[in-house]
Amino acid sequence: MGHADLNRHLTLMQIRTDTVCPLCQEDEETVLHLLGECSALVVKRANILGSPYLCYEELGKMHWCALLRLAKASQRF
Ligand SMILES: [Zn+2]
Repeated sequence: MGHADLNRHLTLMQIRTDTVCPLCQEDEETVLHLLGECSALVVKRANILGSPYLCYEELGKMHWCALLRLAKASQRF
């Protein structure tokens, strides 16, 4: 990964909390929303994490590797 790529990646990781989620347009786009609550990611979340919705505590118990897979699947990171 080149230097420019890395910088771009880090910029994409910083999701603003004051914007409405572009995937479902139902809630603020936060990391918690995308990984645990977003209705647009229900199928992918169930496939990758084994549950359609996850609260903050449940997300904390998930392996970061699984969360990363969902984050990539969401294409919002
Ligand atoms: Zn959403």
